[in-house]
Amino acid sequence: MTLVLRCGRLVDGTGADPSNDVTVVLDGDRIASVGNASGTVDLDCGGLTVLPGLIDAHTHLGIVDVADDGTKSSIAVTAARIFAVARRTLDAGFTTVRDAGGVDGGLADAIERGLVEGPRVLPSGPIICQTGGHGDLRSPWTDQHHAGLPGLVRVSTPCDGADAVRAAAREAFRRGATQLKVCVSGGVISVSDRTDDVQLSAEELRAAVAEAESRGSYVMAHAHGLAGIRAALAAGVRSFEHASFLDGPTAKEIAAAGAAVVPTLSVAHLMVEQSAGWGVDTWSRDNLARVQEGMAEATRLAYDAGVLVGSGSDLLGPDQDRRGLEIVLKARLLGAMAAIVSATRVNAEIIGRPDLGTVEPGRRADLVAVDGDPLAEPELFDDPDRVLLVVKDGRVVKDGRVVKDRR
Ligand SMILES: [Zn+2]
Repeated sequence: MTLVLRCGRLVDGTGADPSNDVTVVLDGDRIASVGNASGTVDLDCGGLTVLPGLIDAHTHLGIVDVADDGTKSSIAVTAARIFAVARRTLDAGFTTVRDAGGVDGGLADAIERGLVEGPRVLPSGPIICQTGGHGDLRSPWTDQHHAGLPGLVRVSTPCDGADAVRAAAREAFRRGATQLKVCVSGGVISVSDRTDDVQLSAEELRAAVAEAESRGSYVMAHAHGLAGIRAALAAGVRSFEHASFLDGPTAKEIAAAGAAVVPTLSVAHLMVEQSAGWGVDTWSRDNLARVQEGMAEATRLAYDAGVLVGSGSDLLGPDQDRRGLEIVLKARLLGAMAAIVSATRVNAEIIGRPDLGTVEPGRRADLVAVDGDPLAEPELFDDPDRVLLVVKDGRVVKDGRVVKDRR
C-alpha cells in the first residue's frame, strides 16, 4: 500500500538543513521517495515537522519495578506493565529501542506479531555481571537470585569465570538477544559496589566478546569509571554506556576503534527528580551529582574526539514517560541538530540497523511528526502529546492530528 505524507518541514536525520513543503511517499514498510510531488495526500502534516522514527539505544522496558525481587507482583501484572511501557515508548515517537538488559526475545516477538503495540525491540537478554557487581540485585543478606520470567524478563545473570560468562552469553542469545550487555564498572544504583570499581576480568570480557563476535554481534558495556572503560576497550567492547568518567585520550582511542559512547543523561537527571517513585533507596546523592557532571563532560569529550555518540535514556520503573528528555539534555550540550542526529542516524549505526534512522528512499518507513520546530525548541521531545503522528513500518500507530486529510 502506498501512503503519501505531506511535511510542512522535514528534518531527515542525516544532519542536513531542514527543508520545507516536502512530500514523502511510503510504499509498504519502506520509504519510496522524498521530494516535491503534488497531488493526493493521505497524511497531511503541513503544519508539522516530520522526522525519522526516534531510536533509544539504552532502554530497560522490562525493569518496571526496581525493587521487585520477583515476589511482589504476578506475572500478569509484570507483563501488563511492560506492555504499557512499550505503548508509551511508541507514543513518545520512539519506533526502535535497543534494550540494555532485562527483556528477552519474547517481547520483541509479541510486538512484531502485532499482539502488543510497541517499538521494534533489540533485546540484550539478562545482563552479564559478576557476583556482587552492578547488576547483581541481591541484598547482602540473601543468597536468592530472582530467576526471572522466561519469555519476558530476567534482569541479570551474575557469573564468575570465563566459562560461566560464555554460558550466560550463549543463554542470552538463546533467549533472543541481538547483542550482549555486560557490566565493567560499579553503578549508581548498586547494592555493594562503587562506580569506579572495575568489574569482570579481562578473560571474562574476552569470553563475552568472542561469543558475540562468533554470531556477528557485539558487546555493550555498562561503564562509569575510566579503568573499567579502558579494560573493556582492550577486550573489544563496541558500545560504552554512561561513560561518565571518560578522558580525552581514551575518547580518541574509542574513536580510532570505531566504537561508540552512549551517555544516559536522562536517568541521572530523573533519578534526582523521581527517586522515591522508582523505589530506589540505595545511592548517595553526592555520587549521583558527580556522575551527572562527569557524563556531561564525557559527552562533549567524546563528540569532539569524533566518537559515535548515541542517545540512550536508561529509564527505569513503571512510567518511563520522559524518554525524549534525552534529546533535550543532549541539545543543551551539543546543540539541537546533533542531539536529533544522535537519536536517529547515529543510533541506527550503533545498533547495526542502517535501514533505520533517516528519511531517505529505501529506508524503513518509520516517521514521526511533531508540533513545532524541534531545532528551535528541542524541549518538545519531552512531551509525548506534542508527537502528533507516529508511523512504524509504514503503519500509522499514533495519530493525534486535528487536520482532516484531503483525499
Ligand atoms: Zn542501563
